[in-house]
Amino acid sequence: MTAPHRLSLDAAALVANWRALSALGGDAACGAAVKADGYGLGARDVVTRLAAAGCRDVFVSTWAEARALADVAARTGVTLSVLHGIRADDGERPAMARPVLNTPAQVARWKALGGGACDVMVDTGMNRLGLSPEDATGDLLDGVAVETLMSHLACADEDAAMNRRQRDLFASLAGRTGARRMSLANSAGIALGADYAFDLTRPGIALYGGAPSPALAAVIRPVATIEAEVLQTRLVPAGQVVGYNATWTAPVDTWVAIVNLGYADGYWRGFSDRGTAWAGDAALRVIGRVSMDLVALDLGDADVGEGDWVRFDPDLPRAAAASGMSQYELLTGLGHRLERRWV
Ligand SMILES: *Cc1c(COP(=O)(O)O)cnc(C)c1O
Repeated sequence: MTAPHRLSLDAAALVANWRALSALGGDAACGAAVKADGYGLGARDVVTRLAAAGCRDVFVSTWAEARALADVAARTGVTLSVLHGIRADDGERPAMARPVLNTPAQVARWKALGGGACDVMVDTGMNRLGLSPEDATGDLLDGVAVETLMSHLACADEDAAMNRRQRDLFASLAGRTGARRMSLANSAGIALGADYAFDLTRPGIALYGGAPSPALAAVIRPVATIEAEVLQTRLVPAGQVVGYNATWTAPVDTWVAIVNLGYADGYWRGFSDRGTAWAGDAALRVIGRVSMDLVALDLGDADVGEGDWVRFDPDLPRAAAASGMSQYELLTGLGHRLERRWV
């Protein structure tokens, strides 16, 4: 039994992307953000492959995500940094996992638990998570073993003056917190230049084929491709309509494929009349509204029939532009029905 749709995942591209990002970071170690189940692709498979390539530092959001990776981490020797820190009731904390402390209360909680190895997030202007620079450099962190001091860039995917301000403020904290290493750059931050890499980089989206800035588009390969089976084909006579709300009208007699994919699979309504799929070398336009479980394609001259498979455009910058969704949303929203198949 096979599902009528799947997510084809290119393991070689994943590893090549990690290597390319690692090279861009120069001497810095290159980690991997695998929160939200590896941005929807499957964190266990991602970590297994990147660990084999040499990745040692893995970032998740929650302890539940860390627990789901505990055996993989133990087997591969990677450490897990839990970005949301430590709450009062987080449950079991696997060995190899440490919190990224974000608030004075989290620091106090960690000290009460013995103050073992941890990371610390410092806020350099994004005003999302993190200690203030004053707290990070005062006596608050006395008695905790800080492995990595981190901060996060607000505008790394833009050419913004704020990037330099955040970098310089972060650099000014060097040697003032007891941290063994410093880490600032996400995927887009890596592309800003070597002076953003510090000791450790934390790419996420670009590992998975996303190009948050044009500089990365040249080196990053797509990883995830949705493939789906044609359920029915029909010749729609000129003047007839296709799909909900009859938004598309056939200008001429048109062969149309109805495909096993919809917004319940993360193929969003934003692709209505805008998405692209491929049958061999033939580009097929999405026509009409994307339904929950179905989407219609204009077959043009392509020789496609019931039971054939088509693949949807895996180029994330292009898909984001077409759908109006972010590259991050397109990946993390990929539905659970799609069988993840590493090739
Ligand atoms: C998600 C995340 C990253 C990775 O960001 P990308 O833009 O996906 O590369 C890095 N650091 C932190 C703190 C994050 O939350």
